[in-house]
Amino acid sequence: MSIANNYGVRVHKVPSYRLGEGVLGRAWIYDGLIEIRYDLRGEEFEEVLLHEMIHMKYRLDEYKTRALTRIALLARGKIPKFH
Ligand SMILES: [Zn+2]
Repeated sequence: MSIANNYGVRVHKVPSYRLGEGVLGRAWIYDGLIEIRYDLRGEEFEEVLLHEMIHMKYRLDEYKTRALTRIALLARGKIPKFH
């Protein structure tokens, strides 16, 4: 399934074997493509999408991306599940 979001980034839901053990998503920053594990729904999907969009927009390392995702979730009144 392919979804184009508001930033022109394509979002694909992919099986877990494509991402690897314990990986929920991946951003291909030079291709404008985000892959998210197929079984994530609702708030879990949104949380991973936010993380990958932060990778795409700010190109920070994993540690800083995780910290910024957590801050962004808390600022929106969301309880982080993976961060
Ligand atoms: Zn990441």
